[in-house]
Amino acid sequence: MRLENRIALITGAGRGIGRAIAEHYGREGARVAVADLTLESAQEAVDAIEQAGGTAMALAMDVTDEHAVDAGVAAIVEKWGGLDIALANAGIQHIDAVHKLSFSDWRKVMNVHLDGAFLVTRAALKQMYASGGGTMLYMGSVHSLEASPLKAPYVAAKHGMLGLCRAVAKEGAEHGVRSNIICPGFVRTPLVDKQIPEQAKELGMSEEDVISKVMLKNTVDGEFTTVEDVAELAVHLAAFPSAALTGQSIVVSHGWHMQ
Ligand code: NAD
Repeated sequence: MRLENRIALITGAGRGIGRAIAEHYGREGARVAVADLTLESAQEAVDAIEQAGGTAMALAMDVTDEHAVDAGVAAIVEKWGGLDIALANAGIQHIDAVHKLSFSDWRKVMNVHLDGAFLVTRAALKQMYASGGGTMLYMGSVHSLEASPLKAPYVAAKHGMLGLCRAVAKEGAEHGVRSNIICPGFVRTPLVDKQIPEQAKELGMSEEDVISKVMLKNTVDGEFTTVEDVAELAVHLAAFPSAALTGQSIVVSHGWHMQ
């Protein structure tokens, strides 16, 4: 098992990509704190991890709430004695052209991705620095590296997370902390399923065309990336043994973006 005896926090892990990573981490021997907006959704993922023989705990944690994030990390440390891996994964999407975008929608997306990633990072680093090291991971996107129309706040927030990841790699090195960002292409989760009809309406095309002519157009094979693909990369980055791999953005997108 590649993550034996490691203690991990994953935000937004009640469903989608975060949940798949939580389940992979559990199978690889990590104790996993599953954080999400509601305790119920986090508990569902915990039940799945425990049924597969793993160890997990559920946390109600809105990543935009400073006190909830600090309290969640404190609860992990109290229960398991430390924190080795923290993955800022919670995210939302909003489809709109910039000139029509409300300030509140802009702020909402920035708040969840960027403020949330900062709060999780700060709480985790305090613990990791005190214990001699750890691994910060961020759920970026191909949109950390390039743009698409109708997604300005998401693109800006994901670029911002890349900057935060790099800053943490530089500051964290002397404390034994590595920091990397995972950049997936399109993955069929509720976040993507919701935006297919929204984009079809905005772009005046069919939902099939949104998938083939927008989302998967630049992949090498017309395939969606899967939650398992992303989870496998998240295990690899958490298990990597040295700071040779830090400050990096790793793209998993069927070749949509090549760097
Ligand atoms: P999803 O909608 O299936 O899951 C997102 C999870 O985040 C949900 O469980 C939700 O409750 C939680 N969440 C939302 N706001 C939160 C908050 N304020 N505090 C705590 N939790 C919150 O989406 P997903 O596709 O699994 O996305 C997970 C991450 O992966 C996001 O950061 C997303 O931007 C990123 N991502 C997704 C894709 C994709 O194609 N699905 C591609 C690249 C990156």
